[in-house]
Amino acid sequence: MKYLDEFSDPVLAERLFDDIRAHTTRPWAMMEVCGGQTHSIIRHGIDQLLPEGVELIHGPGCPVCVTPLEVIDKALEIASRPEVVFCSFGDMLRVPGSGRDLFRVKSDGADVRVVYSPLDALKIARENPDREVVFFGIGFETTAPPNAMTVYQAKKLGIRNFSLLVSHVRVPPAIDAIMTSPDCRVQAFLAAGHVCTVMGTREYPELAERHRVPIVVTGFEPLDILEGIRRTILQLECGEHRVENAYPRAVQADGSPAAQAMLADVFEVTDRAWRGIGMIPASGWRLSPKYREYDAEHRFSVTGIATQESTVCRSGEVLQGLIKPHECAAFGKTCTPRNPLGATMVSSEGACAAYYLYRRLELPQAAETSTGTAPTTREVTRR
Ligand code: SF4
Repeated sequence: MKYLDEFSDPVLAERLFDDIRAHTTRPWAMMEVCGGQTHSIIRHGIDQLLPEGVELIHGPGCPVCVTPLEVIDKALEIASRPEVVFCSFGDMLRVPGSGRDLFRVKSDGADVRVVYSPLDALKIARENPDREVVFFGIGFETTAPPNAMTVYQAKKLGIRNFSLLVSHVRVPPAIDAIMTSPDCRVQAFLAAGHVCTVMGTREYPELAERHRVPIVVTGFEPLDILEGIRRTILQLECGEHRVENAYPRAVQADGSPAAQAMLADVFEVTDRAWRGIGMIPASGWRLSPKYREYDAEHRFSVTGIATQESTVCRSGEVLQGLIKPHECAAFGKTCTPRNPLGATMVSSEGACAAYYLYRRLELPQAAETSTGTAPTTREVTRR
């Protein structure tokens, strides 16, 4: 398939691996920010073929995983109300709240619907003027613009029975929080290409300079990721800390001005709690006063939520890159994608789900294939 197959070319991958090996003289630890990058890395076995000591630390860039438990519980509370049609993307339905999930609420009789766009939820609101339609608006700079546009449309069309339960987060403050953590081992970042497609790269030079870390904007296909790693290693080996764009076919320095204008109109920056990590100043968006009437939290005044996190789930440590998923005692035993104890096992971008899906269950014993030999580049890129 065009724009996919050529970015998985095993010959080109081998060349990039050779270049990475040729320039690596010592161990380095870099964080891929996005869960989509984590899945690609694990799926293609990229981490297993890097020079010894070069570690990829999986970052917190999974929107489902970092949505706070309190917000999940608020969603469950709102969805339970008889007048509400609660709309969400499918991956949020199995995220555990304090005692149940949206699937359970739906099976108990609530009107919970999976939609493929926030505009689908707005259409439901137009067609059902006697119902309150709520869309669960979560995620990073990538999903925020369409959610902002939907609220803008609702106001423009005078649709008053629609609201947004908002839990949007921003990447740059998270990078700042990771770098200021006392446990931080990260020496460089592979920034999320799709986030930069929207926001551009102008927020990153100050971070790179202040924390003295290379930040390389990286895509999602195997060659994209290898090129991001290659450029990162070159900077680290030379003692440099610049922002580089290794995903120029999608990212421009200014990003998408139209999307940014929509965000600036509908949202305002706010402090935001990240599940498993805690409060990060100025790391989120909420609806601005001009659109506050569309805020589901205000409309339904959900207060007094007492949250209860799982006592065994270590997803907070996974999200901060402090442990790998298979270091959690519950991984693959009491916690599986069919019976997830934490959001990182539910989400299609969660690190625990990636390790389970691509059989990293056995990784501590062997970085080997079933034939007992280390995988070749060709085997890895064709998986
Ligand atoms: S394997 Fe399950 S219980 Fe362990 S950290 Fe991941 S989601 Fe939580």
